[in-house]
Amino acid sequence: MTQILSIPFVGQVMFLKNLIKIKNTLAFRLTLWYAGIFTVSSLAIFIALYFLLASAIQDRTDNSLIEETNEFSLILASAGLEKIMPFFRLEANMEGKDKIFFRLLKSNGAEVASSDMKFWKGISAKKNSLEQLTDGAKHFFETQMLPEQQYAVRIIYRVVDSGLILQVGKSLENDTRFMENLRYIFSTTFILLMLVASFVGWFMARRALHGVEEITQTAIEISRGSLDKRVPIKGRGEELDRLAFTFNNMIDRIQILIKDMGEMTDNIAHDLRSPITKIRGIAELTLTTGKTLDEYKAMASNTIEESDRLIGMINTMLDISEFEAGGGKLELEKIDISAMMQNACELFRPVADNKKITLITDLRPDCFLWGDLQSIQRMVANLLDNALKYTPRGGVVEVTINLNNEKIIFSIIDDGIGISRDELPHIFKRFYRCDRSRSEPGDGLGLCLAQAIAKVHDGHITVTSELEKGSIFSVALSVAAASR
Ligand code: ADP
Repeated sequence: MTQILSIPFVGQVMFLKNLIKIKNTLAFRLTLWYAGIFTVSSLAIFIALYFLLASAIQDRTDNSLIEETNEFSLILASAGLEKIMPFFRLEANMEGKDKIFFRLLKSNGAEVASSDMKFWKGISAKKNSLEQLTDGAKHFFETQMLPEQQYAVRIIYRVVDSGLILQVGKSLENDTRFMENLRYIFSTTFILLMLVASFVGWFMARRALHGVEEITQTAIEISRGSLDKRVPIKGRGEELDRLAFTFNNMIDRIQILIKDMGEMTDNIAHDLRSPITKIRGIAELTLTTGKTLDEYKAMASNTIEESDRLIGMINTMLDISEFEAGGGKLELEKIDISAMMQNACELFRPVADNKKITLITDLRPDCFLWGDLQSIQRMVANLLDNALKYTPRGGVVEVTINLNNEKIIFSIIDDGIGISRDELPHIFKRFYRCDRSRSEPGDGLGLCLAQAIAKVHDGHITVTSELEKGSIFSVALSVAAASR
């Protein structure tokens, strides 16, 4: 029994839930707005039209009453008071005795002559209406409700010959019926229009939002793992196409980012594994073969060396991330870049001498910039170290400084092994090392760090290189304060 009762109940709950869902949709709200605006404006038009028509109909009735009084004042002037009664009757019979009546009144309201008044019981000549005429008005209108009639009577009073007042009354039955019909037509048309407006509004809103729905569907598919999905751009309107275009761009970027992150994680795992494996190997070898204290000491010192290298790599990675995030602990100061470069070159001169490399400096004096001395020194050291590392014995390395458009450009030029065209786009990536340079020590983080430091100083590093001919690494830094 409870089960039988619960099925319609579940159905009702589902229906209510669906209703609430629809109520919260943008399409529903747009439809409501559309139908609301349409309803208010058409209602305003209908009301204005109704009152215009009502006033036009009343004007027409009033004009016909004026014409009647004109006609009868002429008849009265030509035929006289005694012969007016047949004319009243004739005219009333022609239009309908229940549709119009004519009366001649004295100024105190007493009746002198009239048409058949059987249908007009209760008609009166109000004192203040008559007074208005004696005050000089040519004619005067009023509307009366008679106790035995369903429809109101429009009445005109007009002063005719010898101070008599002509009273003509017309039933407003036709006018009232016409207005009733009009109201009926207006209200049914209005309801129909409202239904059509709601339907059209719903249809238009759904159509306009179809593109958004498509983007949502694509987003759902992407969130489920189909990163290759894209929203088709098919001229649904500029806003939606722009949204689709921006959305696709965003997914492209996310896809590249995920790919880069995957590569980076692989590289990190790979590059951190080598020193750890090395440390383990040293320890294992010493344990299995080592016998003397010196051998154990050597193992300890190797382990410390490799661990330091590992810690160095991890620290550099953290520094890169910090610089790329736009900060780090920058301590800005005015740096004499010429002097700083000179010092750096002097520091590396023994290395150059050792490899019989000629280290030339062509440093324009008094080049200053605002920046963090320690990180700029790190960047220069990395570039100098690379130039000396990847230049064979007897080569030449030249360091220059120039000023160009508010930028200090310093270049480190070598005639070393160079970089191939294929590898050139990758050298600033984390852990990237060109094939030919693997014999040299290094972890592939130096250029990535140098570029991050240049960028945090509103600058950048560019490189031109040719295999076997050498490379030029140029750093352009803004003379003004570092941006971050
Ligand atoms: P590494 O520690 O290997 O030197 P870097 O990030 O400093 O790492 O450089 C990345 C790679 O770019 C290097 O492994 C090398 O192959 C290449 N490279 C950098 N500087 C030079 C240069 N002056 N001449 C030739 N190759 C270079």
